[in-house]
Amino acid sequence: MKGIGMSVSIGPAEQTGLSLTRPFQLLIDGGWSDAQSGDVLDVINPADRKVLAQIPAAGGQDIDRAVRAARKAFEDGPWPAMPPGERAKLLWRIADLIEARKEEFAELETLDNGKPVTMSKWVDVPASIATLRYWSGWCTKIAGETRAVDMPGDYLAMTLREPIGVVGLITPWNFPLMSAVSKLGPALAAGCTVILKPAEQTSLTALRLGEVILEAGMPPGVVNIVTGLGSVAGAALAEHDGVDKISFTGSTAIGKSLIGAARGNLKRLTLELGGKSPTIILPDADLERAIAGAGNSIFRNSGQICVAGSRLYVARKQFDQVVGGLVKFAEQFKLGPGLDPATTMGPLVSDRQHERVLDYIGGARAEGASVITGGHGFGDAGYFVEPTIIGDVNPQMRVVQEEIFGPVLVATAVDDLDELGTLANDSIYGLSASIWTRDISTAYKLARKIRAGTITINSGSIAGPNLPFGGFKQSGWGRENGVDGIESFTELKTIITAL
Ligand code: NAP
Repeated sequence: MKGIGMSVSIGPAEQTGLSLTRPFQLLIDGGWSDAQSGDVLDVINPADRKVLAQIPAAGGQDIDRAVRAARKAFEDGPWPAMPPGERAKLLWRIADLIEARKEEFAELETLDNGKPVTMSKWVDVPASIATLRYWSGWCTKIAGETRAVDMPGDYLAMTLREPIGVVGLITPWNFPLMSAVSKLGPALAAGCTVILKPAEQTSLTALRLGEVILEAGMPPGVVNIVTGLGSVAGAALAEHDGVDKISFTGSTAIGKSLIGAARGNLKRLTLELGGKSPTIILPDADLERAIAGAGNSIFRNSGQICVAGSRLYVARKQFDQVVGGLVKFAEQFKLGPGLDPATTMGPLVSDRQHERVLDYIGGARAEGASVITGGHGFGDAGYFVEPTIIGDVNPQMRVVQEEIFGPVLVATAVDDLDELGTLANDSIYGLSASIWTRDISTAYKLARKIRAGTITINSGSIAGPNLPFGGFKQSGWGRENGVDGIESFTELKTIITAL
């Protein structure tokens, strides 16, 4: 891999520069404010470790104020009662306003998260706009059913889908804007009011989204955006009895802690958690496509993708050829600051993540695995880690079992292809898997055996707001996207009338 621009300072475009000079504040009840305590958190640019901005560090009182505002907007405000077509127009307008500021959103995302600006411009921002438009369409399509009543007499029975109420949305740092709109879209389309708590490392686009939401004409209290530490603001939101549901995306460890937090009022929980997804390349696969697909799957976004194909399984006779191809693929990456358009791999998001990924690589070496390519930090300016491939692993090693969430692939040579289903399932996770073969029958049989929420065949991960997404096993509870996703923001009510 090559390093570029490591010593070149690439400043944000004028628009984004201006955006950074405006203060970042909490959005509560339609107005902007600092945290009640006045506490702030530094936002670090992961490409150079410099302070980029400051955001409020909300505490329990701020969360309480936001929950009360959302409750008032739900019980008395216009949102759940608004004609669904009006809600649809407002969601569409938010999408239009993001589109009008798309450069700013893309550059802000890159500065904050580190990802290449080409990715922010061509993936994160357009996908966020499309996602909001998709959910806009759902406002007018939420429907119940009529049911037969098997009792003597004449009845009409129907089900209604009603908004679940006040919802806490807690998001991670890997796709900050996308994660925010993927939860806001269905929650708002269903008629809920929300409190969004973005990840402390990457809250900037969520706060600018708040400006756009107000500009679009959102009534006060419907969308509240509260930044701060997960252990303080996130925990206070998850525990608050005024919240009817938490929709959480993040690590399995924190996801489990929310089960306890939800106990007080039995609030509903949707959990989109971690993964350790297998990529399986069968001997008859189109190897060129499979190698590019496997490489993209683990190295895109510096490997910080929940569905990253982080475990590779290849027949022993093809192992050297496939891994050799992946080494070449890894070495093509240009590591550098995300704002440089030539960068194809940015830094990891934070010091903590940088240390964590390097620690996993060191641990693998200590356990006897071999580093085939990469394996080190890169430069001393930011949180860069070389794209890394690790071989000579066994199924018990930490690098094979645990989610690393960085550009690290562990490669296993397989002697008995009948064992592939078992190997793929040898994980506490079950988020996704990909299978590469020209034999569609083998592909489907293997797909049925693998316990994972999404399986791709001859493709890296593909997602869309209409494709159900979520995990088996410890990758989560529930599904996001499509009809399943929106229904998770509703309660089902049955009405029976004697005629
Ligand atoms: P994380 O540490 O679990 O944090 C996720 C969110 O939870 C952040 O907003 C965090 O706030 C907040 N949080 C932390 N402690 C909390 C607590 N005690 N109560 C309530 N909220 C709390 O995860 P991450 O490191 O940001 O993200 C990486 C993880 O997310 C990986 O495991 C990845 O697989 C997973 N992920 C899953 C999906 C999916 O759809 N399945 C998608 C993307 C990522 P702070 O950041 O402010 O502490």
